[in-house]
Amino acid sequence: ERVTASGSEPEERAIEAALRPKNLHDFVGQQRVRGQLSLVLEAARIRERTADHVLLSGPPGLGKTTLAMIIAGEMNAPLRISSGPAIQHAGDLAAILSSLTEGEVLFLDEIHRMSRPAEEMLYMAMEDFRVDIVVGKGAGATAIPLALPPFTLVGATTRAGLLPGPLRDRFGFTGHLEFYSTDELELVLRRSAMLMDMRVSSAAFAEIASRSRGTPRISNRLLRRVRDWALVHGTEQIDARAASAALDMYEVDARGLDRLDRSVLHALCTKFGGGPVGLSTLAIAVGEETETVETVAEPFLVREGLLGRTPRGRIAMPAAWEHLGLAMPADAIF
Ligand code: ATP
Repeated sequence: ERVTASGSEPEERAIEAALRPKNLHDFVGQQRVRGQLSLVLEAARIRERTADHVLLSGPPGLGKTTLAMIIAGEMNAPLRISSGPAIQHAGDLAAILSSLTEGEVLFLDEIHRMSRPAEEMLYMAMEDFRVDIVVGKGAGATAIPLALPPFTLVGATTRAGLLPGPLRDRFGFTGHLEFYSTDELELVLRRSAMLMDMRVSSAAFAEIASRSRGTPRISNRLLRRVRDWALVHGTEQIDARAASAALDMYEVDARGLDRLDRSVLHALCTKFGGGPVGLSTLAIAVGEETETVETVAEPFLVREGLLGRTPRGRIAMPAAWEHLGLAMPADAIF
């Protein structure tokens, strides 16, 4: 399993849940989204109405699920969690919507992966708080209208552009989450280390933060790997050297690239001469799904100035060759 991927062990999931900030105040960084969201929620409270529907976009692990939980918490409302891939038929969505209680927050992760008929049902539910339940088939089918209690939809997507316009337009507020700065990740790490009762030096926090790809989920995960390493080595006070020794073991390099990132860059440089190459061809070369390469590896590689997107395809930037220790061919495009 990739050290930067989502945790699957029950214990890992339990720790991850314990580290989640419970209110906007404890939520580190994302100043702009936090401020805007706080206003939306405050206004809803004053008007004594449910909050407007909220769309959160951004790469995985930046806190979309956490924010949905915070929204429910701040509105003192129950939270229901589902995801686009889990809703294959309109009926799946109807079942969820018809069982919502007044003011409930419905979190739909990966909302861009919902089926088309479900999507159309969602338009009506978001706008008019009603759905048409279709009974019967063919010519005898009838639509029975069903009124829904007002609810707040929190949709999450890796890229807002993946959503059809009509769906995007029905959200009252769209927050785009940005990668976190190293300073912000240090704050996340300090809080987590305190909750896990670990003793970590400032330099070690900085070391872990700089390898976290701008992503709090990865910070927390790396911190847990460092904790394992320290436990096995009998290290009580974790310094920068211990942190880097631990992280080297897990193949997270000094810039925070993991195996997937490196294999994308490596394929781009060695199999395609630095590109340009189409995204799907590149994904096949590394044996990953196109969406994984596009939403997990690419945003970070682009931000780091290692990979470029051009109309003709993906290209390796000079820094990519340098990072991999490869000589850049004279005819490479960038
Ligand atoms: P995905 O889209 O893959 O579900 P996500 O963006 O919803 O990812 P979360 O599950 O909300 O990410 O966050 C991952 C972990 O990172 C959480 O366990 C939480 O502890 C931590 N985290 C995320 N954002 C913050 C933050 N701003 N401050 C502190 N911790 C955070």
